[in-house]
Amino acid sequence: MIIIKTPEEIEILRKGGRHLAAVLHKVKEKIKPGISTKDLDDYAFKLINEMGDSPAFLNYRPAGAKVPFPASLCVSVNDEVVHGIPNKERILKEGDIVALDLGLKHKGLFTDMAFTVPVGKVSSSALKLMEVTEKALQVGINAAQAGNTVGDIGHAVESFVRAQKNSQQYGIVEVLSGHGVGRAIHEDPYIPNFGKKGKGEKLVPGMVIALEPMINNGTKNVTLDDDGYTFRTADSKNSAHFEHTILITENGPEILTKTF
Ligand code: MG
Repeated sequence: MIIIKTPEEIEILRKGGRHLAAVLHKVKEKIKPGISTKDLDDYAFKLINEMGDSPAFLNYRPAGAKVPFPASLCVSVNDEVVHGIPNKERILKEGDIVALDLGLKHKGLFTDMAFTVPVGKVSSSALKLMEVTEKALQVGINAAQAGNTVGDIGHAVESFVRAQKNSQQYGIVEVLSGHGVGRAIHEDPYIPNFGKKGKGEKLVPGMVIALEPMINNGTKNVTLDDDGYTFRTADSKNSAHFEHTILITENGPEILTKTF
């Protein structure tokens, strides 16, 4: 069931979204060769607590998971697509690309955000992958207009990625998708990064959704590690992930996870 948020809830989500964006950008500033993914998680946890908020992913147990997620921040490096578990032994090095994904609970309501950043100097193909994925998110956001459907968003993202004309092959991850968010970290509707125009649920003002294209620099296929969380590309090529929490309004999409 799709939950339409009340004006009071929307105000809380706006504030929470700004907190989340502020935290994630501060964590980003820590990224450099030599830091562990656990250091990034510890820092995110500290910042969230200082704001009086709570991390949404820590101890979150998705349907079917054997154990709850053990960290605040998902840190997915290179071929890891999403849900990488922070680890003090996992040290970032020059040339890596790192996806940071964070959920935050502010006054009982959830927002969700992710981006992928380079560690030092990275390959031109990695830079292009991040650029294409970030633009794919923006294209998806632009399609998130009241009166459009979930399929219109997927169609826009898919068409944009398929239209890329360079020497790289891009795979759109299909087994993971965007989602409604707000009263829970994952709500209806399910929002794939591919689709058909006019299909799926209609977008109406007051809906809050997380859009999150995950684009691989090769096959769309992914595998799940034995830890039950880390998705990685089946061909070990890089993957990128960008996400914003969006409010559908009569005047177009409003990004809630922004720093201003
Ligand atoms: Mg999400």
